[in-house]
Amino acid sequence: MDKKIGLFWLRDDFRTNKNDGLIEATRNHDQVIVFYLYKKEAYQQQEAQKWWLSKSLFNFKKQLNNFNINLEIVETNSFRTFFDRLIKKKDFSIYWNKVYEPDYLKFDEYLFSALKDKKIHYKRFKGNVLNEINEVKKSDGTPFKVFTPFWRTAEKNYIEKIPSKEKTIKKCKKKINYFKNCIVSEKILPKKNWFKNFENIWYPDEHKALKELQNFIRERIANYSEGRNYPNIDGTSKLSPFIKFGQLHVETIWDECTKQKPKNIGISKYLAEIGWREFNHSLINHFPHMLKNNYSKKFDKFPWQKNSKLLNAWKKGLTGYPIVDAGMRELYSTGWMHNRVRMIVGSFLVKHLLIDWKDGEKYFRNCLLDYSPANNVAGWQWVAGCGADAAPYFRIFNPILQGEKFDKEGEYVKRWVPELKNLSKKFIHKPWEFNDKKFKLGIDYPYPIVKHENARVKALNAFKKI
Ligand SMILES: Cc1cc2nc3c(=O)[nH]c(=O)nc-3n(C[C@H](O)[C@H](O)[C@H](O)COP(=O)(O)OP(=O)(O)OC[C@H]3O[C@@H](n4cnc5c(N)ncnc54)[C@H](O)[C@@H]3O)c2cc1C
Repeated sequence: MDKKIGLFWLRDDFRTNKNDGLIEATRNHDQVIVFYLYKKEAYQQQEAQKWWLSKSLFNFKKQLNNFNINLEIVETNSFRTFFDRLIKKKDFSIYWNKVYEPDYLKFDEYLFSALKDKKIHYKRFKGNVLNEINEVKKSDGTPFKVFTPFWRTAEKNYIEKIPSKEKTIKKCKKKINYFKNCIVSEKILPKKNWFKNFENIWYPDEHKALKELQNFIRERIANYSEGRNYPNIDGTSKLSPFIKFGQLHVETIWDECTKQKPKNIGISKYLAEIGWREFNHSLINHFPHMLKNNYSKKFDKFPWQKNSKLLNAWKKGLTGYPIVDAGMRELYSTGWMHNRVRMIVGSFLVKHLLIDWKDGEKYFRNCLLDYSPANNVAGWQWVAGCGADAAPYFRIFNPILQGEKFDKEGEYVKRWVPELKNLSKKFIHKPWEFNDKKFKLGIDYPYPIVKHENARVKALNAFKKI
């Protein structure tokens, strides 16, 4: 046993299972501290996630108490300043898991050399992916830019790996305090109370995540291929925030799915979605420019329009297109939006309103509990047509037909846009055709902010310019 204190730097790994860094710390040290570095500035545009983060810290601290481990939260403006001060102490060893974002990986390099200089023992472990980023490449050594061959190779690589021996977290001898001036998790909560509704829907905790996964596999995965398209039903797992914050490791998802017998198409489809997440993480690390700019440079000349009135109508769910408005209101109210609807509202913003995908990405970042840089920028660039393996720009979703196809009875729309609750199936996706004395378009519900056909032609003309 190492007599020093074992520090575990907690980032996106709020779990005790398959948490290699934390497990190693407890196996090497009698006294372990888990610490979270809260960079207020970094969360400034991630309001919804402040709620998930705060609750995750609170729940994980309780969970770690059972292992005599203290979780301490330190507020800092800069990781570098924090660590430069910390390494002067030298009375610790430190462990952490990778976060697959270029800035984090770059900082790891700095930390390695600073720790090495001071002869402080450290170890970094694999994070929340199936394969390491560099393990999945084309035969010529270059990164994949297309999903299907990426996932074929990634799956094969993962299956062929010799599974590492499953280790578990050990109970420490004594709970201790280590850092000064720690903050409490409640301090991280957003200032405005709009998140209150989240508390009726989500419980950010590892056990809950595993239970939800098992329920999903037992009850819904067999129908996932089909069910995932319909926002009016619970056809997907809704595990994305748990995955983002690491309450659930994707290896656990893989294990739970692959042990099912008989196999069904839903399972492979579900794992392929985990594959899209892996693909997106690979993309942002091989092509980091796409985190802030278009993956495809030819889109740099796209004539986006600045129009705050249209942008605000979109954000508020007041576009006059029911499926778009339902999605945007679901997002604000629950911190989550169905994938099909993310595609529809995204397409509407970039193609009908000709507003830059970066504005949509920014708004999603602020409102999504599952916000992840890889999935969000890749999702938006997929929709806009400027990403890798993206939907072509000229394929323009018709929000009326999308509604009629994926929300046939209008149940989803009626749940989120109650002012349309009396409209029949015939009119629910085109309320401007509904003629009734009790329903006044422009008063009860907005006129469409743009006409679909006109917007489509305008979008295609704009596209021709690049
Ligand atoms: C414009 C846009 C923005 C998006 N932003 C995010 C984001 O910030 N964070 C995020 O996690 N996902 C994002 N997605 C992907 C997807 O919409 C969500 O992962 C999914 O809706 C989460 O719900 P679920 O857990 O029920 O998914 P399920 O269908 O149950 O899928 C299981 C898991 O697979 C992964 N996954 C599913 N679909 C995708 C996908 N298309 N791309 C990448 N991974 C996927 C997620 O981790 C998800 O939790 C975005 C998609 C679009 C079109």
